[in-house]
Amino acid sequence: MSEGHIDIHRDLSAYRSACDAARSRSERVGLVPTMGALHSGHVALIQEALRRSKFVVVSIFVNPTQFGPNEDFARYPRPFERDVEACKRAGASCVFAPSVDGMYPPGDETRVRVDSLAAPFCGVHRPGHFEGVATIVAKLFALTGPCVAVFGRKDYQQLRVVERMARDLLLAVEVVGHPTLREPDGLAISSRNVYLSPDDRLHARQIPLGLSHAVQAFHRGVRNAGRLCELVRSCVSPVSSQIDYIDIADALTLKVFDSQATIGDRAVIAVAARVGPARLIDNVVLGEDSAPCPEA
Ligand code: AMP
Repeated sequence: MSEGHIDIHRDLSAYRSACDAARSRSERVGLVPTMGALHSGHVALIQEALRRSKFVVVSIFVNPTQFGPNEDFARYPRPFERDVEACKRAGASCVFAPSVDGMYPPGDETRVRVDSLAAPFCGVHRPGHFEGVATIVAKLFALTGPCVAVFGRKDYQQLRVVERMARDLLLAVEVVGHPTLREPDGLAISSRNVYLSPDDRLHARQIPLGLSHAVQAFHRGVRNAGRLCELVRSCVSPVSSQIDYIDIADALTLKVFDSQATIGDRAVIAVAARVGPARLIDNVVLGEDSAPCPEA
């Protein structure tokens, strides 16, 4: 099916054929997996994919297996027409928007699980989440056969899990991590920011502000894990009804440091906190990323 000059595939075999056709034209295939409600962060991933491949697919699929029973699967925003326009404007070659039954055929009982990287951070608070992520991404890789797939570092743990899944399953795809796109005040752009009231939106800024304080302290030589986490916590706790975690971990293994530990040269500090009705996540890699709020 063609709408304007971007193809929209809902049918799995037609989509496979489109990817096969691109490869038979010797075009590199790039994949940007999304759940839709596209924003400038997603557009940056599409542009990154276009720099690395000619035939760029944006998948739009709100994946039920990565949501817990009390999470926002049903109310997750689904502005499909607008998303297609955004893909078209960004220069994507096609949109893949399968049905749930297509991706999980009746009787489906196979799951992909990555162990240690999926255990800390969101793994503690969203049981089964990364199994859902690894499974759907493996299915998307199987259908698409991409040379390259681009993921955001905003979901840092997800990026690490997907990299490991691709490596362990011997998939010939390069997994690329793209830096987090932020609002001018430092808030990480997210499809879930639409849940925030104007007050919540102001409060949400405390998350990147806290992370900025940690980056600055790290630059001043602070290496105590507890002290760095405390800088973030003191910003976030006044505005959050529930902090799931503020933890610091090795940037590659995601092994969490205890509060007395001295961290190394590259560690990720990650936050998940509820602000108003939204559960927001953010992170920075100390020793690599600059402060999200430069003026902090
Ligand atoms: P989602 O649609 O939220 O599942 O995200 C799809 C992809 O976009 C994931 O790889 C995310 O990490 C990435 N992404 C989401 N928000 C941002 C952002 N602000 N900056 C960069 N990448 C992002």
